[in-house]
Amino acid sequence: MTLVMQDAVRERKRAEVMDNRLIEQLRAIAPVKTGEVLSRHTTFGIGGPADVFVTVRNADELARAVTAARASGEPVLILGAGSNILVGDAGIRGVVIDNQAKATRVEPLHIDPKSRVTLPTAFGKAREGDAVVWAESGVPFASLARQLARDGYSGIEWAAGIPGTMGGAVVYNAGAYERCLADVLLAVTVLDRKNAERYLPAAEMKLAYRSSAILRGECAGCVVLSVEIAVTKGVSGTLMRRIAELDARRLSAQPRGRNSGSTFKNPAGDNAWRLIDAAGLRGRRIGDARLSEKHPNFIENLGSAKAVDVAALMHEAQRRVKEQFGIELETEVELVGEGFA
Ligand SMILES: Cc1cc2nc3c(=O)[nH]c(=O)nc-3n(C[C@H](O)[C@H](O)[C@H](O)COP(=O)(O)OP(=O)(O)OC[C@H]3O[C@@H](n4cnc5c(N)ncnc54)[C@H](O)[C@@H]3O)c2cc1C
Repeated sequence: MTLVMQDAVRERKRAEVMDNRLIEQLRAIAPVKTGEVLSRHTTFGIGGPADVFVTVRNADELARAVTAARASGEPVLILGAGSNILVGDAGIRGVVIDNQAKATRVEPLHIDPKSRVTLPTAFGKAREGDAVVWAESGVPFASLARQLARDGYSGIEWAAGIPGTMGGAVVYNAGAYERCLADVLLAVTVLDRKNAERYLPAAEMKLAYRSSAILRGECAGCVVLSVEIAVTKGVSGTLMRRIAELDARRLSAQPRGRNSGSTFKNPAGDNAWRLIDAAGLRGRRIGDARLSEKHPNFIENLGSAKAVDVAALMHEAQRRVKEQFGIELETEVELVGEGFA
C-alpha cells in the first residue's frame, strides 16, 4: 500500500469513528437512520441519500440534535416538508434533521406591552376573541390553516394549499393570494448559530417577498424552533368555504403530481411563468423533468427525473429568459447537496 493510500484509509477510519460517536449521541436524542434516500422526503420525489438522518419529534429534540451535530463539525440541514428544495442525486453529506415537531396551542391574544412584540400592521387592531397560535416549526402550514378554519379562527386560510412546514414558511415568508406569513407573525423562537435559544419579535426576521433574515444573513444559521401567529375569530363554515374556493383556484392553475412549486421568484412587475412561456419553453422536457404545460414556472417530475435534469431545465430557462428579455430569473427552489453535474 502506498503512503497516499494509507493516509486515505486512516482518514476514512477517522471519519467512521467520528460518525459512529455522533450517531450514538444522536440516537440518545431521537431515531436515526443512515443512508436514508431523500427522494422519499421531498415533494419533487428526487434526491440521493443522507449520510445521517435524524427524525426529531419536538422542538427540544430539534434543538438538542442540531447542537450535537454542530459540535461534531458535521454539516447540518433542517428538512421541513422538502417542498422547496431540489436535493442532488448524490445526496447530502453530514446530518439531515427531519423536523416532525408538531405541537400546537391556541390561547387568547395578549401582548405584553413591555415586550418588543407588536401586532402586524396587516392584522389591524386587536378584537375580542382574537387568539395567539403557538406552533412548533414542523407543523404543516396547510394543516394548521385548515384546523384553525374548522375551529373558527381566521387569518391564514390563504395558506391551506402551501405544503411546507411553519419553519420553511418563516425562511421564505411563504404566501399566496396577496397574503403572506408577515401579515400574521408575532414572534419566533430560534436556536441561533451559537446554539442559544432566542425569542425574537417578527420584525427581527425581516420578512420580505420569499425571503427572511435567515436567508439574507442577519440571522444566518438560525433554526426555527416554534412560531407565534395572531388569528381572529371567524365563522367556521365561511372560512371552510373560502378554503374550498382557493383549493379550486389552485387546482385550475397548477399541475398536480411531483413538483416543488414555483421554481423562480417573480421579477419585479412581471411573472416568471409568463417569461418562461414567452421564451418558448412551456412543456420543454429534459429526461423526465418538464416545465409544466399548465404553469410553466413549475417543473414536474414525470416519474424518474434526476436532479441533473431539473437543474439543466432551470439553467436553460434562466439562459433563454436572459437572452430574450434581459431579465435574470432568481431561483426560489433551493439546490442542496451533491450531484448536480
Ligand atoms: C405544490 C406546491 C405549491 C407551493 N405553493 C406555494 C405558495 O403558494 N406559496 C409559497 O410561498 N410557497 C409555495 N410552495 C413552496 C414551499 O411550500 C414553501 O417554500 C415552504 O415554505 C417550504 O417549507 P418546507 O418546510 O417544505 O421547507 P424545505 O423545502 O424542507 O426546506 C427549505 C429550506 O428551509 C430550511 N428550513 C426548513 N425548516 C427550517 C427550520 N425549522 N429552521 C431553519 N431552516 C429551515 C431548510 O433547511 C431549507 O434550506 C409550494 C410548493 C409546492 C410543492
